[in-house]
Amino acid sequence: MSKYDVVMGAVITKPRTSLENKTGSWRTRRPVVDVEKCVNCLLCWIYCPDSAIMRLEDHIAINYDYCKGCGICAEECPRKAITMVEEG
Ligand code: SF4
Ligand code: SF4
Repeated sequence: MSKYDVVMGAVITKPRTSLENKTGSWRTRRPVVDVEKCVNCLLCWIYCPDSAIMRLEDHIAINYDYCKGCGICAEECPRKAITMVEEG
């Protein structure tokens, strides 16, 4: 493969809303939340570019239907409550 080859990524065959295009299948790593460490500060919720973080009563949860695995939430969490793990 030359440096100019582009690896095929997600293919969207026809236009649809995100209700039907569940972009979480593009992910290669997934964020996992340690709810014992989470203090519900919502910084991850603010930073997530896909609005894939759900606000619960005491902590957050990830909507894996839409999370693309960018890792921004894990980088921004001040409590290191989010760990990125390989999809498998
Ligand atoms: S940034 Fe960290 S501590 Fe704050 S809500 Fe998200 S997971 Fe919880
Ligand atoms: S990994 Fe990226 S897309 Fe997924 S929840 Fe975190 S910030 Fe959002």
